[in-house]
Amino acid sequence: MPSYVITAKCDGCKGQDKTACMYICPNDLMVLDKGKMKAYNQDPSACWECLCCAKICPQQAIDLRGYADFVPLGASVVPMRGSEDIMWTVKFRNGLLKRFKFKTRTTPEGEAVPDGGYATATDDLKSPLLFTEPASIGVDLPTLK
Ligand code: SF4
Ligand code: SF4
Repeated sequence: MPSYVITAKCDGCKGQDKTACMYICPNDLMVLDKGKMKAYNQDPSACWECLCCAKICPQQAIDLRGYADFVPLGASVVPMRGSEDIMWTVKFRNGLLKRFKFKTRTTPEGEAVPDGGYATATDDLKSPLLFTEPASIGVDLPTLK
């Protein structure tokens, strides 16, 4: 179910050098036609169907042809991303609308601590311990001699 751009909604991210969908696509599939100021998926057969472009598009201009086990037959599933959450709007073919909202972060934007607060953790790359261990597992590990 590769993505495609609903051209009537796309504004080319207002002509920025790199559009949101170009920035996010892990396979560099999205390109902007600067003449028309519309983006498009240049190779749908190579699309990973990851939905990143559909989630990030500020205009909700990207859709996917959904599989039946993901999208009910004849329905549409449209994500709208906020800074704190994402809302999925499901429109069934009989017109019924359902919305599902999920939080996407547990800390305010820009306030995540990169080292998770384990600044004193080991930086020994040869250590068998994970970066935050032993502090993060809450038990004293025996030391082998
Ligand atoms: S992110 Fe959306 S609005 Fe921006 S260029 Fe891509 S499809 Fe168009
Ligand atoms: S669904 Fe994923 S792989 Fe496909 S065009 Fe969008 S971002 Fe790229």
